[in-house]
Amino acid sequence: MDYFPEAEPLLRGICNDSVRTAFIHTDRSRFVLPRDKKSAWIDHPLPIEDSATISQPSLVAQMTDWLEPTAHSKVLEIGTGSGYQTALLSQLTAEVYTIEISEKLSRSAQACLQSMGFLNIHFHVGDGTRGWQKAAPFDRIIATVAFQHRPDQLLSQLATAGICLVPVGMPGETQQLIRYQKINTDVSERSLCAVRFLSLR
Ligand code: SAH
Repeated sequence: MDYFPEAEPLLRGICNDSVRTAFIHTDRSRFVLPRDKKSAWIDHPLPIEDSATISQPSLVAQMTDWLEPTAHSKVLEIGTGSGYQTALLSQLTAEVYTIEISEKLSRSAQACLQSMGFLNIHFHVGDGTRGWQKAAPFDRIIATVAFQHRPDQLLSQLATAGICLVPVGMPGETQQLIRYQKINTDVSERSLCAVRFLSLR
């Protein structure tokens, strides 16, 4: 299995061994533009196709850890983008359902992830704010694109005890990364940190 030592310093504060293992063995250079391959592990977002960005690696690792993935969980991801976050989730959970509004990005992420042997991923091109009703409920939901309001439709597709991470804030402004958790029919809400993601298209 490939090992990327550049990944180690980006894992500060992350103790979950499964998250650490997936992160240091996933070739991030496969998900960036050809001209950026040498900069793939720089801790900064990088542009990808269709005016999107691949998130900075330390934040991807941190969000993956905060999602508390388990080997049995079924995950919904909003904003496939390059597919890098999807690749990590694929290794840490049973099944990943990922929605991307850009057909071009979805197709290239699909080609990349399949060529790397990640086979437990379902792709959909469309508006992720509606979630994926047919496959619901999900044990985990993660959005890597910012919502303006509480993501009620996604929360209605969250399983009991499920965890949902979504950046919430107005376009052009810093957002708060919110952790929602469903307890019976109630949903608890906690702000984890300030983040800057692309806004929904
Ligand atoms: N996790 C990705 C980050 C992608 S950036 C990565 O690491 O590569 C956010 C992505 O959300 C972009 O690809 C953008 O096209 C997508 N997006 C924007 N609005 C969307 C919507 N309404 N539904 C689904 N995806 C959306």
